[in-house]
Amino acid sequence: MIIIKFGGTSVQDEAAIGRVISIVKGRLREKPLVVVSALARVTRLLCTLAEEAEAQREDNVKDLLKQLRERHFNLAKNLLAARPDLLEECLAKVEERIADLETFVGGVCLIGELSSRSEARIISTGELLSSTIISYAFNAADISCHWIDARRMITTDDNYLNARPDMEVTEANIKRIVGLEYKGADLVLTQGFVAATPKGATSVLGFEGSDYSAAIFGMALGAERVEIWTDVDGIRSADPRVVHNTRKIDVISYEEAAEMAAMGARVLHPLTIEPARKKNIPIRVLNSTNQACEGTLVVRGDQAPDGPKSVAVKDEILFIKVTSPKLDGVTRMFGKVFGSLYPRRIPVVLAKATESEVYLVVPEERDTLQEALEEIGKWAEVTVYRDKALISVVGRNIVGFEGLGDKVISVSGKVYLANVSANMMSENFVIDSDRVQITLESLHDYIFNG
Ligand code: ADP
Ligand code: ASP
Ligand code: MG
Repeated sequence: MIIIKFGGTSVQDEAAIGRVISIVKGRLREKPLVVVSALARVTRLLCTLAEEAEAQREDNVKDLLKQLRERHFNLAKNLLAARPDLLEECLAKVEERIADLETFVGGVCLIGELSSRSEARIISTGELLSSTIISYAFNAADISCHWIDARRMITTDDNYLNARPDMEVTEANIKRIVGLEYKGADLVLTQGFVAATPKGATSVLGFEGSDYSAAIFGMALGAERVEIWTDVDGIRSADPRVVHNTRKIDVISYEEAAEMAAMGARVLHPLTIEPARKKNIPIRVLNSTNQACEGTLVVRGDQAPDGPKSVAVKDEILFIKVTSPKLDGVTRMFGKVFGSLYPRRIPVVLAKATESEVYLVVPEERDTLQEALEEIGKWAEVTVYRDKALISVVGRNIVGFEGLGDKVISVSGKVYLANVSANMMSENFVIDSDRVQITLESLHDYIFNG
């Protein structure tokens, strides 16, 4: 079996879905499980819908629901024009889901309260709609496609918006359900991102979570490979939307790809690598608008070359310095600081300590962070540096590549923290946000364009 995952832009309209069908058609012999995201921008629309409902802005809610309905109805009508029988069935299902959503959102609007559980239920609709329409499009193209609700398979905790699967239960579910439902079909199709708790409440795997879903299905089924189809020619030496003259990476290790994602490269969800690595399943990142390109292969470390692979950025971060009046020692410093951060689930990106200081990089915008810092402030001096970004150069044995620190200092003007990651997979620099673009461009040029 193989897993073929299509991201939002790869299913955004009739033409894109036409490409999806032709890609999958060429792979039917390999028994594909197809995983799809919501149509491009739909998850964002649903997030806005949830917020507007909570704010009880009824007119905006109505307008957003209208947009959602029109986009999906029009797509179904265009795709299934030649098959009125399938179109009627498909529209009935789409309408049922949207009507359900309308009722649910109406409830949220009425009480003006939105729990994370309700929000997960609202934003999961994107994948449920896109997958329904795409399964009909396959059937209309005479490819018998069996639609499976991912909530029957991926079982998670009740951290509804960033849910984590119970892998044992999930693996057993996937094996059983896919095994049963594949019979008689050319392919099975399901949703990325969407999951459920053991009690059956809808949960989601976090933004960009469809990549993670694909890797979970791959692991459970022992797939030969996982294909991630997106809108760029594979994983590149930097985000091509941000940096000029990026290069395609031909082969990269699981560890490097995971480090890139952790350090802000948006191309794969940070948890995608783990399930694939566990069973040594290769991942290929491919471009659905340029199928001739071989994309990037993500494999075990001993099958990938050493050296720098990519430059990534994490912006909207805070750099925090905690200074103790005493020489507490590293263990105590870390212990006390994390004693305030951990119970509040503050996702620390990077931390370094000396006998009397701790340096932290954390994402901005967390109410609970303020609380944690106030607690730490009772025994230490806390300095928060705003408008900072974290630039990272990722690649195995990156320390062997000289001159990175000098380059970053000379272009950015000031480095607040320089760090080599403990796994030696990246070098990281905290710099001022307004120097990011120029630093990225020149660092990238220095490394990759000689
Ligand atoms: P999808 O909808 O297919 O999941 P995403 O938008 O999530 O697509 O991911 C693809 C995008 O990731 C690209 O359009 C690109 O802008 C961005 N990206 C960030 N860093 C990189 C990188 N190093 N290589 C390739 N793409 C990157
Ligand atoms: N639709 C979800 C999102 O936009 C999941 C995904 O596309 O990976 O984040
Ligand atoms: Mg994505």
